[in-house]
Amino acid sequence: MSLDNIPAVYRDDVQEVLLTAEQIGVRLDALADEIDRDYAGRDLLLIGVLKGAIFLMADLARRLTIPVAMDFMACSSYGSSTTSSGTVRILKDLEADIAGRHVMIVEDIVDSGLTLDYLVRNLRSRKPASLEVAALLTKPSRREVDLPVRYVGFEIPDVFVVGYGLDFAERYRGLCDIVALKPEIYGR
Ligand code: 5GP
Repeated sequence: MSLDNIPAVYRDDVQEVLLTAEQIGVRLDALADEIDRDYAGRDLLLIGVLKGAIFLMADLARRLTIPVAMDFMACSSYGSSTTSSGTVRILKDLEADIAGRHVMIVEDIVDSGLTLDYLVRNLRSRKPASLEVAALLTKPSRREVDLPVRYVGFEIPDVFVVGYGLDFAERYRGLCDIVALKPEIYGR
């Protein structure tokens, strides 16, 4: 796919475009329809995992027609490394009490699954009425823990991706497409 939509300052860092903004939008339309159907008659609390899920959260919430509330959490991330340490720290907790509510974690990408596994166990202990996960991307080949991710945007191969909220060392988040970086950029 063409790199024409990539801003000039980033273009040389990009190996290939994996998913265009248009493809993401089409997939989100379908996911939102599915969620609307599954939650008909119920209110939903979306919990966005900062910062990678910001655009997904915004684009998904705007497509849903059921009543949604939003809250956010932040967990320790890789920093400028590209693999999970397995140790997760909560940097920002929820404002809302989720007991008795229908809750959906909105996550950018599930890689090893360690971050999400921690989050699910943590939120389950707060006794929500239900708890599901929506993730834009998953890398099944990298999974270390078995996790039920109810709503998945796309399965992708084991490549390091940025854009649409995903960063490397805080760069590239604002890209509208999801792209694979050249390995020399992230030093694999
Ligand atoms: P896990 O704990 O599943 O290994 O990692 C989850 C987190 O790692 C994601 O929320 C995301 O922040 C980060 N991550 C995993 N894979 C990628 C990737 O390909 N690109 C970027 N930018 N972040 C990733």
